[in-house]
Amino acid sequence: MATMARPLMTAEWICTHCGATNRKLVPEGVSRATDECYTCHAKHEIEAEARPVRWKSRPKG
Ligand SMILES: [Zn+2]
Repeated sequence: MATMARPLMTAEWICTHCGATNRKLVPEGVSRATDECYTCHAKHEIEAEARPVRWKSRPKG
């Protein structure tokens, strides 16, 4: 059975800890993900909003 690769989209989110802009590639259609800030490594839950690309972020844990 062939596995269809889903197209990826960019989720952009702002770290609530250090203010850095992070980008994560997520499969199209996904509206929630977790990511880690690339500068301070704080884990965040990110959630798609009405505006594409820019996602809402909140600290995780
Ligand atoms: Zn950060």
